[in-house]
Amino acid sequence: MITAAILSLILTFSPNIAETPENDAGIAREYRDVAQRLIDAATADHHAWDRLAYITDYYPRRLSGSRMLEDAIDWSVETLNSDGIPVVRTQDVTVPHWERGNEYARVLSPVPMELAMMALGGSVGTGGEVLRAEVLVVGSFDELQERSGEAQGRIVVWNVPFTDYGTTVQYRGRGAIEAARAGAVASVIRSVTPFSMQTPHTGGMRYDALVPQIPGAAITPEAASWMQRMADRGETIEMELYMEARTLPDAISRNVIAEIPGSEFPEEIVVIGCHIDSWDVGHGAMDDAGGCIVTWEAMRLIHQLGLQPKRTIRLVLFTNEENGIRGALAYRDKVIENGEIENHVLGFEVDFGVFEPLGFGFDGSEEALHLLEEIASLLEPVGATAVRRGSAGTVDVGPLRREGVPVMGLDVDTERYFWYHHTHADTIDIIDPDELARCVASVAVMTYVVADMTVRLPR
Ligand SMILES: [Zn+2]
Repeated sequence: MITAAILSLILTFSPNIAETPENDAGIAREYRDVAQRLIDAATADHHAWDRLAYITDYYPRRLSGSRMLEDAIDWSVETLNSDGIPVVRTQDVTVPHWERGNEYARVLSPVPMELAMMALGGSVGTGGEVLRAEVLVVGSFDELQERSGEAQGRIVVWNVPFTDYGTTVQYRGRGAIEAARAGAVASVIRSVTPFSMQTPHTGGMRYDALVPQIPGAAITPEAASWMQRMADRGETIEMELYMEARTLPDAISRNVIAEIPGSEFPEEIVVIGCHIDSWDVGHGAMDDAGGCIVTWEAMRLIHQLGLQPKRTIRLVLFTNEENGIRGALAYRDKVIENGEIENHVLGFEVDFGVFEPLGFGFDGSEEALHLLEEIASLLEPVGATAVRRGSAGTVDVGPLRREGVPVMGLDVDTERYFWYHHTHADTIDIIDPDELARCVASVAVMTYVVADMTVRLPR
């Protein structure tokens, strides 16, 4: 345990130690001035926030297959060109095309009530009819197994409180498969969130070819716990569900690719990216227009300051992360085909919110991690100095990782992330302009130094 006296000594002395240039390691010393210029440029105004407000106000609900997504992509291409980024192009990607349509849910008894609900992405609808059935409330896959005799012809409601995303999201992913296997007619989850103000959350779900496809939807935590209490009292809950959700033939979308070519090793590529698509609810401000604006602004500032790194910086706005990951897979296939995969130095993605930046999560070698720690020390003015092992929010660079490319995510304060995730509430209102600017500074410094330092980041 650290006593107050020792703590005050640390607080007194450590900033001085870190700020003394003599104590900098080589890379930190070499890049201290340029890092400060990037930080100053990123935090001088609220350009990133204004741009994020623009894209989300004009192009909300960017689901794959929608006109809105393609309009957002057109706007991005035009704006990257007007920013003067030297190379801007797109890559066609075939993507799933799912539409929600109209939908509602209500409880008929024991107490009538309208439910805030959302179909889960990829779900089938109710066949043009209103589905009416009794509810079976269960709290886990095991409980459904034990009570599978009661599930026939019922709507299974999974009342599973949020623990961590990876655990709780299992019910969104395969709830409809397990419910259908037990003979249920629909699967309704408690939204995957630790906090709710009667807000339903959508997200992807799966089917299994061996069991019937039944509708999958989400209701609010409040509604799910109400049903639990009623079921515990021995009440019979009767519910109606109406969903027009359907899957149309695949559509064509695009990855947006923009580059600052390297001055010495243009064939070596540092990828920074995000996903330009979103769910069809809310504005996708946090998930993931924010990640797109942060990485894009980082590139724009590097270019605007006249900094041409030795290696190529490539920005990729991936399409279709939310319900297919087809953009990331198409990108990986293309760079393998072009013989570029070996020269991918780093895949750096921002897709876990754009709140207060804390540092970076890294998936790669120990040697590389130490170099990144040194670079991150340059971010002391914005507080993003931590580099930890294991990355979060790196779905789109995941396929690159599986080909041996080191990958990294921006670590931010994620406390509120799942409050808004995949809801109507994911709008610009939840993003703080100063925090966003510090995210831009963090990405700009890390990206520039990795792209410019003499030594290539080891694999
Ligand atoms: Zn996302």
